[in-house]
Amino acid sequence: MPLTHLSELSWLYLSLLGTVLLLTGVFYVLEELFPAERHQTASSRWFNTAYYPFIVAWLLLLQFVCAPVFSVALIRAGGGFVPQLINPPRGFFGNLAVTMAFAVAWDLWQYWVHRLQHACPVFWQTHRFHHSDTALNASAQARHHLLNYVLHTILYLPLLLIWGSLTPHFAATFVMFRLWGFVNHANTRLDLGFVTPIISGPHWHRIHHSTSPEHYDKNFAAFFPFIDILFGTYYRPRKDEYPQTGIPIADFSGHLSEATIAPFVGLYRLGWRRIRRLTERVSKSSVSSTSH
Ligand SMILES: [Zn+2]
Ligand SMILES: [Zn+2]
Repeated sequence: MPLTHLSELSWLYLSLLGTVLLLTGVFYVLEELFPAERHQTASSRWFNTAYYPFIVAWLLLLQFVCAPVFSVALIRAGGGFVPQLINPPRGFFGNLAVTMAFAVAWDLWQYWVHRLQHACPVFWQTHRFHHSDTALNASAQARHHLLNYVLHTILYLPLLLIWGSLTPHFAATFVMFRLWGFVNHANTRLDLGFVTPIISGPHWHRIHHSTSPEHYDKNFAAFFPFIDILFGTYYRPRKDEYPQTGIPIADFSGHLSEATIAPFVGLYRLGWRRIRRLTERVSKSSVSSTSH
C-alpha cells in the first residue's frame, strides 16, 4: 500500500496507535486479574506505553522510505518467485491456505533473524532493549529499539521477493504479527497445555526472556514453537515455571538509555575493540618482521 498522502498516513498512524493503546488497557486488566508475577514495578510499563507513539511513527517512517525501494526490487524480480511458480489459490479456503503458509514462512524467517540477534554481538545491540525488561508484561511487545526495526525491515526483502504479491501489505502484517506480541508477553498464568508446541503463548515465551542459564537461547519463534522443535531450541516450561526475566544488571543502563543511545554506544565499543585488536596484530607482526 503506497502511503503517499499525509491524511492517509495520519489516519493510519492514529488507528495503529489507538489499537495498541486499547489492547494495552485490555491486557492490563487481564494481567491484574490473573498475574503470573505479582507486584510488578510500574515504571517499565509506563515507559513502554509512553514509547508507543514514537515506535509506531518510526515503523511508518521506515515503511514510507522502504516501500518504493522494495517495489522497484519486486518489479525487477518479476513480481516474486512463488506467484511465478504457482497460480495463487482463490476463495476463502484458498486465501486461508496462503495466509497460513505465509505465516509459517514469516516465522521461519523471523526465527533466524532472531537467532542472529542473540548469536552475534553486533546484532545483539539491536535486541538488548527488548530483553532488558525485568517486569515482563504485554507492554513489552513494543519495547524494541529503532535499530531492531531497521534490521528486520532490510532483511525482510528476500521474503518479499519470494512471496511477491502474496505478501500481505503493511497494515495486515502489523495486525497479524506485531499484535500477537501482546499475548506472548502478557503477565498472565495462561498455560496452553497440549497446544504449547503449536502456538506460542506467554508461558512459553517467558522462558525466552529468562535470566536462568538453562533457558538461554531457547524459544525463538514468535508464533509457532514447532519451528524451535525443528532446530533444537525448544523448551517446554514446567507447570509452575515462571522465571525471572531481564539482562544482567551490569549491562542495563536505564530504560531511556536502552531505548536510545545504549545500542549505539555498544556498537561503538565493539567497533573500537575490533580496531584495537587489528592494530595490535599489525604492530606485533611488524615487530617480529624487523627482529628477523
Ligand atoms: Zn530474543
Ligand atoms: Zn519477547
